[in-house]
Amino acid sequence: MIVVKVGGSAGIDYDAVCADLAARWKAGEKLILVHGGSGETNRVAEALGHPPRFVTSPSGYTSRFTDRQTLEIFEMVYCGKINKGIVERLQRLDVNAVGLSGLDGRIFEGRHKDSVRAVENGKTRVLRGDHTGTVEKVNTGLIELLLTAGYLPVLTPPASSYEGVAINVDGDRAAAALAVALKAEALLLLSNVPGLLRAYPDEASLIRHIPADDVEAYLEFAQDRMKKKVLGAAEAVAGGVRRVIFGDARAGQPITAALDGAGTVVS
Ligand code: ADP
Repeated sequence: MIVVKVGGSAGIDYDAVCADLAARWKAGEKLILVHGGSGETNRVAEALGHPPRFVTSPSGYTSRFTDRQTLEIFEMVYCGKINKGIVERLQRLDVNAVGLSGLDGRIFEGRHKDSVRAVENGKTRVLRGDHTGTVEKVNTGLIELLLTAGYLPVLTPPASSYEGVAINVDGDRAAAALAVALKAEALLLLSNVPGLLRAYPDEASLIRHIPADDVEAYLEFAQDRMKKKVLGAAEAVAGGVRRVIFGDARAGQPITAALDGAGTVVS
């Protein structure tokens, strides 16, 4: 089993990802796709007059402040436009894909965090009314049902809280939890960069290999959202996934290239 997470940043070539995925699926490989949608969510939120608000925690992690209206816009884009766009591409390629959010069948479950500590103008404030959380539990029953019946699952945040409330969760860490739960042999985190760069944005500074027992030491090279990918990779290898690869989804055959060792390999 290979879990492929494709991001939602500008420049990602979903056609290339889907074509590669379809070819491998038809050759008999078992794969699951997890996707993001942050770039498009920002655009739609602006257009709807509810612009995105990003907050930085005291430890330096950036996240989207998700009030109820933001959550609804998030669902429109992630579960609607992006998820169905990917399912449509795969169906055109004759792959029987099924798109689901983490709410469906409670595939992704975690604790609802209603408040977030945010550093603004040098001061730490507590913001309430946040609909966020982290995936703590993956319920694989529905996924296994689908895979056994020959369907390719295409998964996206949000997740479900233990009380059944929709929560915005990080897609990279959700994919990592999924890879652990399914005992996947590899987790691919594909984005619009060649991999983890030592001196972002210099693409020539690509880090080729990260030892599995030392992933957190590489957090220092990752800024803002890239930190979540490094954290996800650390969680996946700690949970028994043998290989995590940060790969490039902008062109070519992104999945095949990553599995062939392009990008940053954590092993
Ligand atoms: P996605 O939505 O595609 O998953 P994110 O926006 O969450 O992607 O994270 C990838 C982004 O992280 C890159 O587009 C890049 O701007 C940023 N980034 C920060 N630090 C690094 C780094 N050291 N190496 C590569 N990318 C980095």
